Amino acid sequence: MKKVCIIGAGLSGLSCAHYLKNKNYRVKIFEKNNFPGGRVYSEKIKGYTCDIGFQVLLNNYKEVNSLNIYKKLKMNYFNSGAEIYFNKKRYKVYNPLYHPIKFLASDFLKIFTMRDIYKLIIFFLFNRVSNKKTGPYIKKLFSNKLVKLFFYPFFKGVFLSENLDNDISFFKKLLIKFSMGRAGLPAGGMMQLPTEIIKNSNLKINFNKHLKKIENKQAFFEDGTCEKFDKIVLALPLSEINKITKNKVTIKYNSNITTYFASSKKVMGKSLLLIPEKQYKINSIQCLSNVCSGFSKKKKHLYSVSSLEVEATEKELKLEFQKITKIPITDIETIKTYKIKKALPRQTVQIEDSSCIYFCGDWNTEPSIDGAIKSGRKVAEKL
Ligand SMILES: Cc1cc2nc3c(=O)[nH]c(=O)nc-3n(C[C@H](O)[C@H](O)[C@H](O)COP(=O)(O)OP(=O)(O)OC[C@H]3O[C@@H](n4cnc5c(N)ncnc54)[C@H](O)[C@@H]3O)c2cc1C
Repeated sequence: MKKVCIIGAGLSGLSCAHYLKNKNYRVKIFEKNNFPGGRVYSEKIKGYTCDIGFQVLLNNYKEVNSLNIYKKLKMNYFNSGAEIYFNKKRYKVYNPLYHPIKFLASDFLKIFTMRDIYKLIIFFLFNRVSNKKTGPYIKKLFSNKLVKLFFYPFFKGVFLSENLDNDISFFKKLLIKFSMGRAGLPAGGMMQLPTEIIKNSNLKINFNKHLKKIENKQAFFEDGTCEKFDKIVLALPLSEINKITKNKVTIKYNSNITTYFASSKKVMGKSLLLIPEKQYKINSIQCLSNVCSGFSKKKKHLYSVSSLEVEATEKELKLEFQKITKIPITDIETIKTYKIKKALPRQTVQIEDSSCIYFCGDWNTEPSIDGAIKSGRKVAEKL
């Protein structure tokens, strides 16, 4: 039986391992960290669960569904829709499919025009989207207030892109997914996702194994050990692949900063609070312990604050958080800040597999959990 080495225990590597193991391949996984999951991981700090960067899991991800693990994740959901903080006031919009009564009582007419609703229906049903950029496309299609108050802050948080320069086809796909499905968090934090994939397929991971080079069907690690293989899968970020192989294709990444605050005050419900005004560095605030009570083992509430301005300081974010929520500064405890410079690939690229080296990662499908899992499955199918 052929031996396959998988380098990288992020979602793409774990997905590849899952599908190969199902076909009875001899699989060995190597990971440079001492934990699995790559960009999907959570830390337990002072009784709080902090995901490394605010992330959500949609309940209608096709690839996650195929892994058959949703039930084990014990998902807890945000309200579908959002609250918007604008001109010192808060406006609520709910998704009519999930909250029809709340929707009618909400401020949706302050955000949407009737023409927007008509345009949205046409966009969902008929628009054949090209490879145009999202920002300019939606500015032409929808009203100024809908674009400024809702689409920009919401999708800035999804794409982690200031100008929404992702393709409009990705926007359309996610808009449909968010409208038809629910965004939520696994009860144990996002790290439960890689943990359940590992448990489900009984995967064994060799941790603290940093791949340095590949030569003559052997993988050489930083600790001086090496491993023979028939095939090797590099489930790594492209920049790492470039260090190991002769590949020269590079891509740019979008960045994110997430700070976690705890407070005794509960100032919001289960909705995302979007901050569209440019004077703020914060893009959105969410009270995670309202969505998942287990995220705070203390009597305090856990808030996450997201911004695209990675150079923003903890102090600046705390002052803005205080100004928006009106929680006294003495009642805001900073738990942790994560600055992630290479959070999401800005574009996707393909590189040629060689006879025994294969590649996967979100950079070759789409920048999402489902994209990473799909790329791992695709490589397993090729093998
Ligand atoms: C802040 C943030 C927010 C996000 N929000 C969402 C969201 O809400 N919804 C969503 O669907 N997606 C979201 N994503 C995207 C999603 O998390 C990623 O697309 C996905 O996790 C990428 O998985 P991957 O396997 O391609 O890469 P990675 O997770 O980067 O995995 C690569 C693995 O390779 C290991 N490695 C690297 N170099 C070596 C080496 N030389 N030797 C051995 N091992 C090595 C790394 O340690 C890592 O474990 C977000 C990402 C971030 C960062």
